[in-house]
Amino acid sequence: MSDPSAASDDGSETLFGLDALDPPPTAPADGPSFRDSAAARRLLPVREIHAEPAAAASPRGRQIIARFPGARVVEVDSHWRIPGLHGNEGNVERWVRVKGENLVLGERKTLTTRPNGRSADWIAPGPSNGCAMSCAYCYVPRRKGYANPITVFTNIEKIVAHLGRHIARQGPKTEPNQCDETAWVYDIGENGDCSVDALISDNTADLVHAFRRWRTAKASFATKFVNPDLLALDPRGRTRIRFSVMPPDDSRLLDVRTSPVAERIAAAGDFLDAGYEVHFNLSPVVVRPGWQEAWAELLTHLDDVLPASVKRQAAAEVIMLTHNRELHEVNLGWHPRAEEVLWRPDLQQAKRSENGALNVRYRNRVKAEAVDALQELVRVHAPWLRVRYAF
Ligand code: SF4
Repeated sequence: MSDPSAASDDGSETLFGLDALDPPPTAPADGPSFRDSAAARRLLPVREIHAEPAAAASPRGRQIIARFPGARVVEVDSHWRIPGLHGNEGNVERWVRVKGENLVLGERKTLTTRPNGRSADWIAPGPSNGCAMSCAYCYVPRRKGYANPITVFTNIEKIVAHLGRHIARQGPKTEPNQCDETAWVYDIGENGDCSVDALISDNTADLVHAFRRWRTAKASFATKFVNPDLLALDPRGRTRIRFSVMPPDDSRLLDVRTSPVAERIAAAGDFLDAGYEVHFNLSPVVVRPGWQEAWAELLTHLDDVLPASVKRQAAAEVIMLTHNRELHEVNLGWHPRAEEVLWRPDLQQAKRSENGALNVRYRNRVKAEAVDALQELVRVHAPWLRVRYAF
């Protein structure tokens, strides 16, 4: 098959004869962008931008720097190694502040799409790494250590071009699977939250716009943040947004800085109307006293408030909590109460990962019983919700 990506006269890449990037999205017609609001600025009061020189000089990098005129720009050799920001013990005390006050701009050097088969058919090279929110169980900081504020990859056009080639190579999906009946599903947000990324740059918009032209594929990302600006992107059914939900009491303890669960659920109808496919991640499921009653209540709430149109197309992933020793020890430094429910040696077993980290997950029997119990709760309280997989 010929390479669908080719250089145009002005040197920019084209995909299937279309410009690699759409023009930047416009603000919702009825008002200013949410990302310019006081609430968005409170989540991201950026004071320092650590930037690789090429990333700072790129068009996307320049747009981002212009969005935060009060921020000091600090040149760094590599977004992977920033002394004083990554892996700095001193940051444990400033864990939450580091995430909002620092941004990193880098270029994604490795463009690899990996097979998955659970949440999505493929894991795409994401447009970011890191997150401005602070969920206590989050595995995203595992590579950069500690707080891991958002690194925005400024060479988004290369990510889009790579995906265009990958999608073209697959051809049509001929066998339905649980990821999707007809489309190859690409997770574009493995290492961050695309809704939060959209407060900083147009990377999420560029991907949503690219996928609406790729008729054999669909983008997918999980989120814990309601960003109304995404409603203006017109995804035309080619992006699946997966609102992660858990019982509100667990969320208040563990999902630091995220949108409240009720707000995520309340947004589902608007996102469907705006052209997204809307699924749910029931995750992570945390086994603690009273967990089944709390999930029953949450599922009943979903059943009570979601419009029929959302229910008709919804599906869910169920993901049991996993944790690791390093994160446990870091959390003890800033949020020890979270560890009372996350770190349960009496229920968990450890496994050394390839990179040497000690990961823990619920013991086989605990996990199997909990997965069965949760699926039964779904059958009873939200029978319309198809569980795509439970893990
Ligand atoms: S929203 Fe997702 S990526 Fe961000 S901290 Fe929470 S779990 Fe991690």
